[in-house]
Amino acid sequence: MLPDSFIQELNAKNDIESVVSSYVSMKRRGRNLVGLCPFHGEKTPSFNLYPETNSFYCFGCGAGGDVVTFIRKIENLSYIDAVKFLADRVGMSMPEQSYNDVTAKQRMRILEANREAARLFHAFLYSKGGRAGLEYYHSRGYTDATIRRFGLGYAPQSFDFLRSELRKKGFHDEELVLAWLCARSKNGRGIYDIFRNRVMIPIIDVRGNVIAFGGRVLDDSKPKYLNSGDTLVFKKSNNLFALNYAKQGKTDHLILCEGYMDVIALHQAGFRNAVAALGTSFTADHARLLSRYTDEVVLVFDADNAGQKGAQRAIALLRDIGLRIRLVTIPDGKDPDEFIKNNGPERFKLLVERASNDVEYRLIELGKRHLLNTTDGKVNYLKEATELLAGLNSPLERDVYLGRLAADLQVSKTALQSQLSYQLKRRQKQQQDKQFTQVIRHAEASTQKANPDAKIHVRGAGAEEGLLGAILLNPDYLTAVAPLLSPEEMVTPFNRKVYEQLLSRYHQGLGIELSYLSEWYDPDEMAYITKMVREARERVSSLTIEEAKRYVSVIKREHQLAALRQPSELTPEQIQEKLNAMKQMKK
Ligand SMILES: [Zn+2]
Repeated sequence: MLPDSFIQELNAKNDIESVVSSYVSMKRRGRNLVGLCPFHGEKTPSFNLYPETNSFYCFGCGAGGDVVTFIRKIENLSYIDAVKFLADRVGMSMPEQSYNDVTAKQRMRILEANREAARLFHAFLYSKGGRAGLEYYHSRGYTDATIRRFGLGYAPQSFDFLRSELRKKGFHDEELVLAWLCARSKNGRGIYDIFRNRVMIPIIDVRGNVIAFGGRVLDDSKPKYLNSGDTLVFKKSNNLFALNYAKQGKTDHLILCEGYMDVIALHQAGFRNAVAALGTSFTADHARLLSRYTDEVVLVFDADNAGQKGAQRAIALLRDIGLRIRLVTIPDGKDPDEFIKNNGPERFKLLVERASNDVEYRLIELGKRHLLNTTDGKVNYLKEATELLAGLNSPLERDVYLGRLAADLQVSKTALQSQLSYQLKRRQKQQQDKQFTQVIRHAEASTQKANPDAKIHVRGAGAEEGLLGAILLNPDYLTAVAPLLSPEEMVTPFNRKVYEQLLSRYHQGLGIELSYLSEWYDPDEMAYITKMVREARERVSSLTIEEAKRYVSVIKREHQLAALRQPSELTPEQIQEKLNAMKQMKK
């Protein structure tokens, strides 16, 4: 448990505005700030910062909490690691003995094991046994400088190489399994190396930690590529290969390729802004990650079917969060590595510079699907093309393409314009509907996770949350409320726990703020608590101690009602008696 004084200083030095601003661009609106939510895709900002309470809340997806919760979510860290992250950020040192969180320790051990494994694979590559691996890299044209820069290595054909080496360095079997370096054998007694007879590519995060590995076979065995599964330090959908190098690049765009082999080839050819998703599919999380480092993504995908499908998917996700997109089409269906080998980096640079944006690309693709020399074909094409243009955010961009379409197909621009405004309206309506259902769904889901009983006891939970929100905003209310209401009277267990904790802090004379609670609750629960505070603040003008007391009496009544609903030993007469007593109380 961290001392309050430390948490207080941490919060004072890491104001939510400056912390969040390095991830999301925020605009001031009254006392608060708004921006596009980094936790879900959206085009109109519903992500709010409240400097007053050093907290955030998203109306779109229900994410919320204090500054530590924000870092936990966006950096995918445990509570203690997020605190350390923020402490490092402002040059504070962690209080001694705070680092005893089990998960935090496990994470640290996994990172250490990974680092050692990367060293061992790299050293083995340059040993006698590693010749096959080195020959493979050289055959791809990788220089020794590139091999060193990316820390490339080789895992020998052995079930026991890594395990025995890492054991010597003090790692336990359990740690190696957690790190996804070894697996348990079927009978559960022994463990063995997962990566064997593969060239090994370490995956490094933006902070320089080795978080996972990719391995490629040298022969025809399957699978051709084997990547680490998700661990405490690695989530496939959350990391991009070579982002640690690419983010230092000075260019205004990032190049997104299909695989890490392409990325390494591009970096060697001087394109140090190339990254790739790990494994096959690009996700919305990847798109959001990219948007933190650039406004424009240049896609370099293979010309084959799988590559084009992958590109379409990535385009849709990147578009969704408003990134500019351009596409490189490599002539003759070659992959980038091959193209550079045959034509040199200068020619590839030209391809990147001349890459068409995705609107042109999609219009061309659309054109291929219609017979443009027939009237029907033309009409259908224009219908779909205007639908596509309606999806563009910039009116200027829409107008440019509309003009081009009109000229290309020799139709009047005015006619296209009315078609476009029809499509725009339709789209707007669709998006509103979508956003609305999304808001409802997310709000329900996060409540469901944090406090599942709220659904069963709607009135009770509502009053409890109203009261807790009021107390969190006005801790003084506890002086009046504490003698009236005991924690056992709260109907839903989650709210009871929160109330208990607030009471105990209050009795010890400690402060009551979101930041002191964050240690005890996961991000979903923090979002739920933040929502209480936000809603209480919205009612702040009418919120008095009298109202807080009114919440107390609703809670008491709901508590008694809930008790009655429990199967009990009471006779029907006794129940009736109780109900009468409650009626009296109501008056
Ligand atoms: Zn959101």
